[in-house]
Parts: sequence; structure tokens; C-alpha cells
Amino acid sequence: METKTAVELENLADLHMHISASVTPEILWDLAHEQGMKLPMRDYFEFAKSVTIDGNVGYEEYLKMYDLLEEIQSTPEAMFRLAEQVPTHLYQHDKIDLVEIRMNPMLRSRSGKIDLDHIIVYTLQGLERASLKFPRLRTGLILSMDRRFPPEVNKIIVDKAIKYKDRGVIGIDLAGPIDKNFSFEPIEGLAKRIHAEGLGLTIHTGEATNADEMWEVVTKLKPNRIGHGIACVHDANLMAYLREHRIVLETCPTSNLKTKSVKDLDEMRFNYQTLLEHRVPFTINTDGPILQKTTLPKEYEMLIENHILTMDQAQAANQLAHEVSFIK
Ligand SMILES: [Zn+2]
Repeated sequence: METKTAVELENLADLHMHISASVTPEILWDLAHEQGMKLPMRDYFEFAKSVTIDGNVGYEEYLKMYDLLEEIQSTPEAMFRLAEQVPTHLYQHDKIDLVEIRMNPMLRSRSGKIDLDHIIVYTLQGLERASLKFPRLRTGLILSMDRRFPPEVNKIIVDKAIKYKDRGVIGIDLAGPIDKNFSFEPIEGLAKRIHAEGLGLTIHTGEATNADEMWEVVTKLKPNRIGHGIACVHDANLMAYLREHRIVLETCPTSNLKTKSVKDLDEMRFNYQTLLEHRVPFTINTDGPILQKTTLPKEYEMLIENHILTMDQAQAANQLAHEVSFIK
């Protein structure tokens, strides 16, 4: 007899969380002022509104909000503080005891004026300090490449991930807005290096892009996991490929609604039921709880209450997230 409710789910794992989208407006406001930053709005409440998404804004608008957030997070000290505070909050409030945080160090370099190693080391030390407070809390850092960057810049990010792989960097991601000039060709060599070094590889695809792009990603880059990937539900062969190669989707339900990648709860129900029917491995994540105005427990709650997943299916997704974490 299943008596648990979603809010009672414990030991949650979030594998897909951009730190840009995971910091409360209170902390961001303080950080901006500590740096003497001139913000586009003088009023706190106006600011707070601008760093969370109220309605469903669409993919492009959504990504634009990242610029200001990243600007505020562009000093080593700021990253140190956030890297400690974000997992601390997740552990204390959301029962999350495993979190993989991702960030793009290059977007925090103020056009090369801030040293990448400082950004990365301070972030890693913040994460470590959070784990010091809660022995059960496990954290890891994923460095994100960006579709807008030329290959040589993405290569630097991979070099840094390799440099810090024994000190808390667990993997590499590819994120950023869809860019017409972007090509997967130069990423292929990087992907081989990432695999050879034993780092995890996850790629944002099948969110704003279609199943054709997902095919390119899985065959050329052979990622361990895919960020979103919901576009696969329209391609049975692709779903079989994901299942057979055990490529795990990091789905982010509320994020998909807000970016309008998924129209409504009916479409969401169809998507998850299709994934389950085809036994495509998937996990549930937030993408960034503050910007999305959600929490991981709320995501599970929404899925269960709307009969999108059963409690058992939700627990299985969380169990899988622990199993496929890049944190060793
Ligand atoms: Zn994402």
C-alpha cells in the first residue's frame, strides 16, 4: 500500500541546475551592492520580479534573463558565497542531498578580466564548505560550454574541467541559445577527450531543437546524459537508441512549460507516458529553482497530482538520478 505523498519524498537528487537560475533575489541584491554594481532597476521588488519568471515567457526571453544574473555572479567571492549557499538551502529546505551544479566560467570572466581559475576554485571551495556542514550532502560542479562560443573558447572550458577533475569538477555540459553558426563537428574531438578523462558529458538538446539534432548529438558526441531531450517522444527509433545505450534524460518539467517547449500539462503527460512506454531512462530536475519559481519537491508534487507520474515512477526517477550522477 503506497501511502507517501510527493512532499514526503526524501533524499532527492537534482542533476540539472544552472547556478545562474538558483540564487534568491535577496542574495543577488546584496551581491550586486557589495560590488557597487549599477543595476537596471533601483527598486528591490522590481529587481526581484526581473530575476524570476512569472508567466510563460518563451525560450529566447528566458535565456536573456541569464545575462544580468551572470553579471552579478562574476567575481570569485560571489561564486564562493553562492556555491556554499545554494546547496545549503537545497539541503535544508528541499531535502536534496545530491546536487550537480552547472555554470559557465567564461560567462563570469567579464570579457577576460577575471581569471577563470579563480572563478572555478572559489566555486569548488564553496561547494566543499557546504558539504562540510552536512556530511550527507554531495555536490559536484559541471562546467558548461556554450553554443555561441567559437570552438577554441569551448576547448578552454574543457581544459579547465580536466585540470580540476580531481577537485570537484565532475563533467561538461553544452548550453546556450540556439545559434545558426553552431556546429557539432568541433565538439566531437572535445567529447572524445572528455570521455577519455572519465568526466561526465551532458548536452542540452531536444528542448528548443528537434529529434534530428538529438540524433546528431547521440551519434557524434555519445553523451552520458541529455539536458531535456523531450523531443525524442516523436521518434520511436531514437527512444530505442536512448534505452539501449542507456543515455539518460535530465527532464525539467516546469522549465519546459515556461519556455513553451511543452504547451501544457496534457502534452507533458503524453511526453512522460511515451518515455515510460518506451522505457527511456529519465530523471526529474529543476533547471534552476529560483528563476523557475519552483523546487524539486514541487516538481514531483506537480507530476503526481496531475497524474503524469505515479509515486512509484517518481521514486524510480529519483533513484535513477542517484545512480547516474557524475559524482563518484
Ligand atoms: Zn538547462
